[in-house]
Amino acid sequence: MTTATPAQSEEVRHRRNVVRLMTPAVLLLWFLGSIAVDSWLKGPWSSVYWICSFVALMPLVLFVLPQYWRCPACKSTFPRGSNGSSCEVCGTTFDL
Ligand SMILES: [Zn+2]
Repeated sequence: MTTATPAQSEEVRHRRNVVRLMTPAVLLLWFLGSIAVDSWLKGPWSSVYWICSFVALMPLVLFVLPQYWRCPACKSTFPRGSNGSSCEVCGTTFDL
């Protein structure tokens, strides 16, 4: 069990805040977008929106988030749902 340096803990704190703010913001935009598309564009455009937004969001969830939400000590990705207080791979604990 290793304790992270203050700079590493600060980095995890900052990244956790960004993920916590961005996730609801992206979901809200997606939700508002779907309401707007449903009310303004009838018919097949609604399906087009869902398919396009799904294709656009998938890389974000699958690649960008794991790249961003990782341990500063060993660079391995934190597990989904982890609050980043410790790294399961290298055992570093962060002072959050
Ligand atoms: Zn680690």
